[in-house]
Amino acid sequence: MTLIIAMDGPSGSGKSSAAKGVARVLGYRYLDTGAMYRAVTWWMLDQGVDVEDAATVALRAPEVSLEISTDPDAPGVFVGGADVSEPIRSAEVTGAVSAVSRVPEVRGLLVRLQREIMAAGAIVAEGRDIGTVVAPDAPVKVFLTASEEARAQRRAKEIANPSVSVQATQADQARRDKLDSTRATSPLTKADDAVEIDSTELGLAEVIDAVVRLVKE
Ligand code: C5P
Repeated sequence: MTLIIAMDGPSGSGKSSAAKGVARVLGYRYLDTGAMYRAVTWWMLDQGVDVEDAATVALRAPEVSLEISTDPDAPGVFVGGADVSEPIRSAEVTGAVSAVSRVPEVRGLLVRLQREIMAAGAIVAEGRDIGTVVAPDAPVKVFLTASEEARAQRRAKEIANPSVSVQATQADQARRDKLDSTRATSPLTKADDAVEIDSTELGLAEVIDAVVRLVKE
């Protein structure tokens, strides 16, 4: 059986840092599925596709040639061979990604690719639908949450741009979480058998510890 640790949760819950940390401690690979949705979105914007036009997004999606590193110490995402790890974090991509990720054809393509990557060996995969759709049989599933304020503060720190306030980050995050959890296909939701960890009052090392303990149980 392939060892898959599924880590889902809303934006800013600390999934990426925690998932990378768990992968390092256990010597597993790491998969950032959000980076894959961001990369497809970056490509659509680069091509001038209107991301609200779901039919065109669905039609063009198979043209995206996507590669992703699974090394927790050297994460990176590539489109057509070019490293797009930085541009996929731009405000423009963040604002458009929910429109692209709700398109069933995009999800179908990316879920297939994610399953292929997971089949190659032990991995910590983070996203919104890993425990519910991508790997429903994963032996360890975590749903990571944190208060809205804590999540916005973490995101704002990540963005590290003094012109972007915590309030603006919180509003943008709330908008994206609402879109992600109310879409028709694979909405963000906790799997019935996932263990919920609230990281509001926890440091990163404590979250990593809690997940590693679940794996060793
Ligand atoms: O995790 P991150 O915030 O980078 O994800 C960006 C977006 O990608 C999310 O807001 C969501 O729309 C989409 N996503 C998804 N399913 C996943 C991972 C991310 O729909 N498994």
